[in-house]
Amino acid sequence: MSTLQWIDAKSVDEAVALLSADAHGTIAKAGGMDLLDLIKEGIVAPTRIVNLQHIDALRGVQFAQATGLRLGALTTLAEIAGNSSIRERYPALAEAAAHAATPQIRNAATIGGNLLQRPRCWYFRNELFHAARQEVGREQAQYGAIFDNSKTTMVHASTPATALLAYGASVHVAGKSGKARAIALSDFLLPPDFNRPRDTALANDEVLTHVSLPAIGANTRAAYHKQTERDSYDWPICDVAVVLTLANGKVEAAKIVAGAVAPVPRRLTASEKALVGREIDESVAAEAARAAVRGATPTEKNSYKVPILETVIRRTILAAMA
Ligand SMILES: Cc1cc2nc3c(=O)[nH]c(=O)nc-3n(C[C@H](O)[C@H](O)[C@H](O)COP(=O)(O)OP(=O)(O)OC[C@H]3O[C@@H](n4cnc5c(N)ncnc54)[C@H](O)[C@@H]3O)c2cc1C
Repeated sequence: MSTLQWIDAKSVDEAVALLSADAHGTIAKAGGMDLLDLIKEGIVAPTRIVNLQHIDALRGVQFAQATGLRLGALTTLAEIAGNSSIRERYPALAEAAAHAATPQIRNAATIGGNLLQRPRCWYFRNELFHAARQEVGREQAQYGAIFDNSKTTMVHASTPATALLAYGASVHVAGKSGKARAIALSDFLLPPDFNRPRDTALANDEVLTHVSLPAIGANTRAAYHKQTERDSYDWPICDVAVVLTLANGKVEAAKIVAGAVAPVPRRLTASEKALVGREIDESVAAEAARAAVRGATPTEKNSYKVPILETVIRRTILAAMA
C-alpha cells in the first residue's frame, strides 16, 4: 500500500519550499475537486499533498475603481458568483462562475484550481488510454476542438477562463526565494498535452497566488453564455464571453472569447473587427458571429458545434447590449 503525507502549509513561502523540495511527488491542493479525480483516474500519484487552504494570503476579493479586481487564488466559484462588486462590474465573470459545475462543487472549487484543472477529454481521463500517451480515436472527439485542432482536439476545461480572458485577466504566481511573476492569462493557458504534467505556464514549484482584472470603464457592456446539452450541470458544447466598450452608441472596442472550441479559449478577433465602429443590431451581430466560424476545422463527429457556436456568439453579443 502506498503512503500519502498531508501538510497544511501556513504561508505561500512554505508551500513553495515544499513543492520545490520534491517537484515530482508533492502536489498542491486547493478545493481538491480536480485533484481527487486525477488521483482516482491514475493520472497523478502524489506521495505528499500540500494543502493550501490555511494560507490567508491566498484569500479575498478586492475591488478598487482605479486598479480593478483582485481574486485570491482560494476564492471559490460560489464567492465569485455571489459577490456584488463582481456581479455589477464584471457580470460575464459572475455568470461564468455561476454556471460552472454544481452548487456543491462551486462551494469548494477555487478559481486557482479551476484554471489549473486538467482537460475532461475521455481519452485523457480513461486509464485504458494512458499507456498510449495520445488521443486514440481523435475523430471520435465529439466534444473536442473545432479550431486549431491539428495537434490535439482536447479543450481546456475551465469555463470561468473564457470570461477572464475577455476581461484581460492576468495570473500571479510565486516561486522560490519570493520570486513573483505576472502572466497574461492568454499566455498562461497552454494547449492540453498528455505528456506534460499541466496545461499552463505554472512551474512545478510555483503557487498561483491571485488573478487580477483591469478596471472597467463606465461604458462597458458584457454578457456570457454557456451552451450545454442539458439544463442541469454539464460541460459546455461551447461558451462565449463578450465585453464591449461603447462610445456614442457605437462599439469602440470589443473582446469576444469562446471556450471549448479550441485547445485554449479562443479570442474571436474577426467578430471583434466586425463590431468596432458600428451600432449593434441583429444583422451586425449575425455578421460578427458568421465571421467567427469561417475557417473552422471540425472533425467528423463535432461539426455540429459550428452552427451552435455561431448562434451563441450572435445571442451573446445581443445580450451584452440588452
Ligand atoms: C461534475 C463536474 C462538473 C464540472 N463542471 C465544470 C464547469 O462547467 N466549468 C468548469 O470550469 N469546471 C467544471 N468542473 C471542474 C471544477 O470546477 C474544478 O475541478 C475545480 O474548479 C478545481 O478547483 P479546485 O480548487 O478544487 O482545484 P484542486 O483540485 O485543488 O486543484 C486542481 C489543480 O490545481 C493545482 N492547484 C490548485 N490551486 C493551486 C494554487 N493556488 N497554486 C498551485 N497549484 C494549485 C493542484 O495541484 C491541482 O493540480 C466540474 C467538475 C465536476 C466534477
